[in-house]
Amino acid sequence: MKIKSAEFVISNSEVAKCPKKDLPEYAFIGRSNVGKSSLINMLTDRKSLAKTSGRPGKTQLINHFIINDSWYLVDLPGYGYARVSKSSKKKFQKFITNYFEQRRQLVSAFVLVDIRHKPQPIDIEFMQYLGESGIPFGIIFTKADKLKPQAIDRQVENYCQELLKFWEELPPYFVTSSSKKIGQEDVLNFIEDTNKEIEQLKAE
Ligand code: GDP
Repeated sequence: MKIKSAEFVISNSEVAKCPKKDLPEYAFIGRSNVGKSSLINMLTDRKSLAKTSGRPGKTQLINHFIINDSWYLVDLPGYGYARVSKSSKKKFQKFITNYFEQRRQLVSAFVLVDIRHKPQPIDIEFMQYLGESGIPFGIIFTKADKLKPQAIDRQVENYCQELLKFWEELPPYFVTSSSKKIGQEDVLNFIEDTNKEIEQLKAE
């Protein structure tokens, strides 16, 4: 997929106020600092798209971008701040679960994980939540430039082994680096193919 246009649409905290257009939507989520903003900019060939909403605290909002006038890319808040209080954690969870459970346009989530780390409980639990809620997801490994090819393979293999403890099937996964521009085509082609399948289903 070629990126012809990528524009910020709206930031908000209520799923009811998300854009109404019936376009396929893909949501990006992961621990803070995993490289989500960099990935979104890399995927869309834009230097600072993921930051253009600009308001302080925007990282705690649902940020919609429209790509090629045909699908929504959604930048969700990062999770896993070590120091947030229990009550703000709860609030965060509600906010995210509302989005996942109510957003009809959502086609797939992408859970971002830093390829250097072994599987973290917070990410695994989040994937389990998505699975139990019937929400399709893929895994995007970030920062692949930080490892040598062999180490990349080993980390991915370890991650898959961990997932196979709980799942019969592996989700689609992608190895990416925003600084070296690795994985852009893989992720965009996956989205393009999925969008085509949806179009075909609609036409039937
Ligand atoms: P976010 O909090 O998940 O949005 O993460 P950012 O995109 O702001 O990135 C967090 C940090 O990781 C920053 O210092 C980035 O420069 C760095 N980073 C992000 N992506 C990559 C990558 O692909 N390779 C390397 N080496 N560093 C990255």
